[in-house]
Amino acid sequence: MTATSLVNLLDYDRDGLRALLAGWGEKPYRADQLMKWIFQHGVDDFGAMSNLGKTLRASLAERARVEPPKVLLEKVSVDGTHKWLMGMDAGNAIETVFIPETSRGTLCVSSQIGCALNCSFCSTGAQGFNRNLSAAEIIGQVLVAARQLAREGGQQRITNVVMMGMGEPLLNFDNVVRAMNVMRDDFGFGLASKRVTLSTAGLVPMMDKLGEVSDVSLAVSLHAPNDELRTPLVPLNKKYPIAELLDACARYAARRPRTSITFEYTLMKGVNDRPEHARQLVRLMRRLPAKVNLIPFNPFPGTRYVRADAADIDAFRQILMAADVMTMVRRTRGEDIDAACGQLKGQVLDRTPRSAMLARRAANAA
Ligand code: SAH
Repeated sequence: MTATSLVNLLDYDRDGLRALLAGWGEKPYRADQLMKWIFQHGVDDFGAMSNLGKTLRASLAERARVEPPKVLLEKVSVDGTHKWLMGMDAGNAIETVFIPETSRGTLCVSSQIGCALNCSFCSTGAQGFNRNLSAAEIIGQVLVAARQLAREGGQQRITNVVMMGMGEPLLNFDNVVRAMNVMRDDFGFGLASKRVTLSTAGLVPMMDKLGEVSDVSLAVSLHAPNDELRTPLVPLNKKYPIAELLDACARYAARRPRTSITFEYTLMKGVNDRPEHARQLVRLMRRLPAKVNLIPFNPFPGTRYVRADAADIDAFRQILMAADVMTMVRRTRGEDIDAACGQLKGQVLDRTPRSAMLARRAANAA
C-alpha cells in the first residue's frame, strides 16, 4: 500500500475517528486514546501507543498514517512572531503565524490555498485561488506549530487559534469545522470555544450554518460602514450587503449569550479612516454585542492603498470609545518577516480555481 492510500488520521474529529474505528471493530473509547497520543503526547508512531492493544496497533500500521504538512521554511521575527511556510501538493504552500503576547499565544491558521474573494486590500486575494485545505492540512498547522514551540522549550504555548490566515474559512466549511472540533476537543488541543475564532468576510448563509454546529467566536471583516464603500473593498458585499450581514451577526450572537462579535476594520488612508466613517460605524455597532478591532493597513507589493496615519487611527478609536463601543487597535507584529495581517501570500502556483479545472476536465472528457 502506498503512503497516500493510508487514511490520514488528522482528517478526522472525534466522531469521525470513532466511526472509522467502529468499522474496524474497535470500541469508541479507542478514538479518545488515539487522539491523546497524537495531539497531547505528540506521538505518531503507532507501535509506541502502548495502551491501544495489539490488534488495533496492527490495523493502524496497516491502514493509517499521521501526516501533518511539511515545513518548507520557518522565520522568527525580532518580536518573537513565528511564521511557517508549509508545503502542500503541486508546489503550493500556505503560511501559518504564531503571535506570542505576555499572557497568551495566538496561532493564525490558513484554510485555503489562496482565496477566491478578491478583497482589494488583501495580498492573499491578489494570489488567486487554488483549492481548499483538507482537515488534516488545517489541524496539521496547529500540530506542527505546537510541536515546534515545544521543541523550543515550551515557554510559549498556543492558547488561542484564529482562522485568519489565507483563505475564507466559511468556503471550506466541513474541513474547517472538523479541524476546529479537534482544536476544542479535550482529547485534542483542549481549547475553550471562545479561544477559537473564525473570521469571515461575511458569507451570510454559512454564518447561520456555523451557528448550528459550533459555538466558536466569530470575527467579521467589515472594513467599511456603508455599502458604497464596502463593495469595492470586499466584493462579496454585493451578494451580502451590510444590513444582511449584521442581521446574521445578531442571529449568531443570540445563540451565544454574554459573548460579542468582533468586527475587523482595516484602516486605509483617505479611504475609510475619516471621522464620519467612525460615526457611521458607531450607529451600526449599537445594534449588537460588538467589539471593534482596528487594523492599521499593512502594505504589500503592488497595492494602491496606504496605511492610515497614527493620528487618524487614534481619532477613529476615540469616536468609537466615546460612544461606548469596545475598540482595540491591533498592534502590527512580525513586520520584518512579512507575517502581518493581510501579508500572507504563501505560494500559489496554480491559480486556476478548482471548479474551473474540473469543468475543463469534464469538457475534455466529453
Ligand atoms: N477571509 C477571512 C479570513 C482572512 S482574515 C476574512 O476575510 O475575515 C484576514 C484578516 O486580515 C481580515 O480581517 C482581513 O480583512 C485583514 N486584512 C487583509 N489584508 C490586510 C492588510 N493588507 N492589512 C491589514 N489587514 C488586512
